[in-house]
Formats: sequence, structure tokens, C-alpha cells
Amino acid sequence: MDKLTKAEDTYTFDDFLIKPGLSSIEPKDVTLKTQVSTNFNLNIPIVSSAMDTVTESQMAIALAREGGLGVIHRNLTVDDEVKEVRKVKLANELTVKEVITISPDETAEEAKAIMDMEEISGLPVVDDNDVVVGIISRRDIKPLRGKYLHNKVSEVMTSDVVTISEGTETEKALDIAYENKVERLPVVSEKDEIVGIVTMKDILKHKQYPNAARDKRGTYLVAAACGPFDIDRAMALSDAGADIIAIDSAHGHKTDIIESVREMNKNVESDVLLGNIATAKAAEDILKAEINGIKVGIGPGSICTTRIVAGVGVPQLSAVSSVADVAEDYGVPVIADGGLRYSGDIAKALCVGANAVMVGSLLAGTKESPGEMTIRNGRKYKQYRGMGSLGAMTGGVGAGKDRYFQNSNSSNMNSTKLVPEGIEGVVPYKGAASQIIFQLMGGLKSSMGYVGADSIKQMHEKAELVHITANGMLESHPHDITITNESPNYNPRS
Ligand code: 5GP
Repeated sequence: MDKLTKAEDTYTFDDFLIKPGLSSIEPKDVTLKTQVSTNFNLNIPIVSSAMDTVTESQMAIALAREGGLGVIHRNLTVDDEVKEVRKVKLANELTVKEVITISPDETAEEAKAIMDMEEISGLPVVDDNDVVVGIISRRDIKPLRGKYLHNKVSEVMTSDVVTISEGTETEKALDIAYENKVERLPVVSEKDEIVGIVTMKDILKHKQYPNAARDKRGTYLVAAACGPFDIDRAMALSDAGADIIAIDSAHGHKTDIIESVREMNKNVESDVLLGNIATAKAAEDILKAEINGIKVGIGPGSICTTRIVAGVGVPQLSAVSSVADVAEDYGVPVIADGGLRYSGDIAKALCVGANAVMVGSLLAGTKESPGEMTIRNGRKYKQYRGMGSLGAMTGGVGAGKDRYFQNSNSSNMNSTKLVPEGIEGVVPYKGAASQIIFQLMGGLKSSMGYVGADSIKQMHEKAELVHITANGMLESHPHDITITNESPNYNPRS
């Protein structure tokens, strides 16, 4: 058998450092743009974990604003997960599609009543064919008193209305609004029919996040988790506008999953990511499902006990490297999922071929992660738990059971019949996710400066690693000092 001598040597983040190279790159000048699935790009290589203590709509919105992607967890009913997706999609829709309009034959009084009820300050005026013929605002109605309130909208409205055509870019829309000193721009089709409205307030909000990850319509990108056999959920998420569906399994390298996901992929418009896997062979096999992205990681997660409970896994840097080598030939992006503790780990994952990383613990405990804050010994904490923990498997809709193949035919299955592969705990409260992202991306940019890589593609091509010993790692962490001030990007390992 001789399995032991045949066993591969495998490595993880702490086994390597990135070798500094000749550089003319300033960290501030690098681009962090990356592909997260075959049809979607991000502006930073960060994806948040589909975990019930990490990602719901608030986290997904915060991440999209920074240029990353949130994956809504699936420990929710289909309806609730759909609602979370919709909240992200509606959070920054530049063009309001369901415009409230009024006919030119209505009265000014009626227009005022609609504006009061809908809490808006202007209405496009459209004829029977939905063609925009004017716009009426509170300013037009304000001077009217008594019988004049019965004047027709057509007599009071501004008929010289400024419109924009569908697909007008944000900057152009803003210029038009400024030049014409208008608050609202009706969006019209080629036939001048109303299709939406853009307000100055929305345009300015849009400009506040220039690095945001958006779809073609300008709304924030969002992904949502789905079980490998849950076609109804996948279709509902796709209909709700999820750009990406992340098929979420502890072991994606299974024949029935590959078959099911291939079918599912044909029925949804969203891109489909499949995971998790940890070997080159698994990458070859799951690529047969014609997926748009691969998630790598069996057991590296901070809350994960798979490697201890099942004795199974592959140290994460080796896993990512071997999957990325295969995926690159197919042009399919790879997400390194789990085990990242510092910005340097992100740089190392990209160095061996990942296109993005998925993080749980790094974003757990932030303002935007689901869950209540608790106070212990005067310090603030938030809960963080594995999706294969007892709490996640018995709470919510019990999605963790399915992820870890713990579903049973028995209707009275209780927690003593479950074999957890994760733990539950708390992490210190960390404030806004944007601050964490700022530090992580600052560290990554610095790494790229040392390598001389101005893009993630160059990081793949140029970065070299050095293999270090345990002493090398000891030397890497601060040593021979008592740390007195907390650093925003460094926690001593506990
Ligand atoms: P972290 O960033 O905390 O190191 O890892 C987060 C990742 O761990 C998640 O994205 C997911 O892939 C994985 N994960 C989440 N919950 C569990 C669990 O209970 N058990 C295992 N084995 N992995 C988990």
C-alpha cells in the first residue's frame, strides 16, 4: 500500500511568505479589480461567507459599496432569502422603475394628494399612451389657493420637461440635472414613453460609492446561497435578481451534486458557483457542470471542525493552488474560502491563483453582521458560529444539516442525532465592515507593491513564495514585546 510515502506534502498560509521583488509599483496605484465568476467582476477581491452570523442584506450592501460581494446565507425560508436579495437590489437602484405618474386632465389638488400620500415631491405627467408631456412638482402647486387648486394639471405643469433616455450614464445624468437645474429626470424610451425616473438625490448617493460593485443597470451585485438540490430556491433567487447563486455544500465533489447543478444551471439566469472542493481532480470533475466559478476550502475555517471530526481536508494554500491550476485552463474564477486571518493571507491566496477570497471570521462581529451585540467583562462581542454547528443546524431552517449531509428521514431528529462539523462562539465587536475592508485592502496593496504587481493578474504571474519553517513564522509575528496598543489590522493569535 505504502500510502504514507505516497502522501503529498501540503501547505497553508503560515508555511510560506511572499518573496519581495524588483518593483516600480506604488501601493496606491494598484488595481484590485477581479473576476468573481465568468460574468461578473468585483472591484476588490472580497466575498463574505454565506453564514447566518455573517451575511444578510446589510453586509451585502456594505460590501458591494466597497466593491466586493456578499453571499446571503440560506438558513432562511426561500421567501426570507428572496427578501434579503431584493433589499440589496433596491438599495441603490438609480432608476425608479415603478414611477407614479398623473394624467394632464387631473386636477392640481389630486396631484398634491398623490404627492402627500406617496411622500414624493414631483410627478411626471403622461398622456394616454404613457408619453411624457410634462412634470408637476410641489413648487408648481404651492402658490395655488382655493378654486385654483381645481386647475388642470396641464395648466400648472412645466411642459418643457427635460428627459433622459434609457441607459444614460450616471455622470451624464448628473450633468443634465445640473445644467437644467432640475431635481428629477424622467427616463423615456425611444418613443418618449416613460420607463422610469431618476432623482438628483439618487444620483448623488450613487456617486458616494465610486468603487461599488454593480450590475449593468447600476444596482449592487449580490450573491445568494442555495443547496445543491434545491431547484425551487435557485429559481426564486434568480427571479429576485441574485446575480450569482453559490451552491453551498461541505463536499461539492459528489456525482449527484455535479449532476443536479448542471441541470440547475440550465434553469437559472444567475451565474452559478459550486463548492467546496480542495483537489485538482475535484476541479476537473465539477467543471463538467459548466459552472461559472469554484469555491475552494475543506476545513480551513476558523469555526470548522471537519478536519478533526472527519480527519478530512487539504491545507488551504495547497488546495487553492491545485484547483486554480486546473480552473485557469478553463477560464473559470476561483474563490479561496476560509482560514484567512490577516491581509497577508489574502495576498498569499491570490499569489497561488485565487481570484477572490471568501471571509467569515474577518467580517463577523461587524456592525453589519446579523445578530445582537453582547457585553462581557465590559467588552462588546457578537456571535459567530459555523453553519455545521449544533446551533446553526437546529436554528433557522436548519440549512446547516443539509450542508453537512445530516438530513435524516426521521421526523423527530433532535440535536443528539446530529454530528456537528463546526463550533459556536463570539468575536469582539469590530465596528463598520468598511473599516475592516480598508485595512485588508491596504495590506493587500502593500503586498502588491513589494511584489511589483499592479493587478491581481500580475500577482498570479509575478509573485513568488518562499517556504518557511516554524521559526520563520515565529520571527514574522511581533516578538519579545508586550503589546500595549491594539492595532487595527493585527491580532496576536490566541
Ligand atoms: P473563516 O473565514 O471564519 O476562517 O471561514 C469561513 C468559512 O468556513 C465559510 O465561508 C465556510 O466555507 C466554512 N464554514 C462555515 N461554517 C462551517 C462549519 O460549521 N464547518 C466547516 N467545516 N466549515 C464551515
